[in-house]
Amino acid sequence: MDSTNSNIVTFRFYEELNDHLKPQQRKKEIFHIYHFGQTVKDAIEKLGVPHCEVDLIIANGGSVGFDYRLHEGDYISFYPVFESFDISAVIRLRPEPLRIIKFVLDTHLGKLAKYLRLLGFDTLYSNAFKDDEIAELSINQKRIILTRDRGLLMQKKVTHGYFLRNTDPMKQLREVIARFQLFNLIKSFTRCSLCNGEINSVEKEMVMYRLPESTANYYTEFFICSLCNQVYWQGSHYYKLLNRIKDLY
Ligand SMILES: [Zn+2]
Repeated sequence: MDSTNSNIVTFRFYEELNDHLKPQQRKKEIFHIYHFGQTVKDAIEKLGVPHCEVDLIIANGGSVGFDYRLHEGDYISFYPVFESFDISAVIRLRPEPLRIIKFVLDTHLGKLAKYLRLLGFDTLYSNAFKDDEIAELSINQKRIILTRDRGLLMQKKVTHGYFLRNTDPMKQLREVIARFQLFNLIKSFTRCSLCNGEINSVEKEMVMYRLPESTANYYTEFFICSLCNQVYWQGSHYYKLLNRIKDLY
């Protein structure tokens, strides 16, 4: 074999994994110069692709794991996580898709956390979380990390995480609902937007003394958080939110 070909492998990334690559690398074969003993996980993260967004790696026709060591002339394809994709004949890199979708959000995503909770999704968020805490919560409670920080997703122990492409919170919400196919799982008015506690309907008389007069006159249905006692009603902000995502249904 021509000696100039040594230490070169070919990568091909599919679908949204391309978002992590430089524009000139996207949707085409990439020639990668590896060093002896380099694992495939290390190689793709050097290119900017967090391993937890990869669900399937095919090397020279067979599926391999993240610890696969690169060999001269390898041709390796990478496929993203499909939560609902059935590929039972090959190795799934992550233990299994998460059947119950729960999230833990990075510290800069407060608005997204509020929106997800308003739609009923179990979402942990604190602007005081450290990266390690977020990783631990993800592993211990089987939560998907949402972040704009690739470094967090590249921590070795992280198995379920997603890098948000958008920076605008409403666009992020739409992105998450589309990406994880959450359309049919929306359960509005089941979760507190402040603390993530579950909310339940409550008799108007029970909360009357806490309502502004206009609200007490206009609304009949009320909800209360089981953790922090915040009272909710289906006001105009709620319908605005539903309107902004309804074309996703
Ligand atoms: Zn609450």
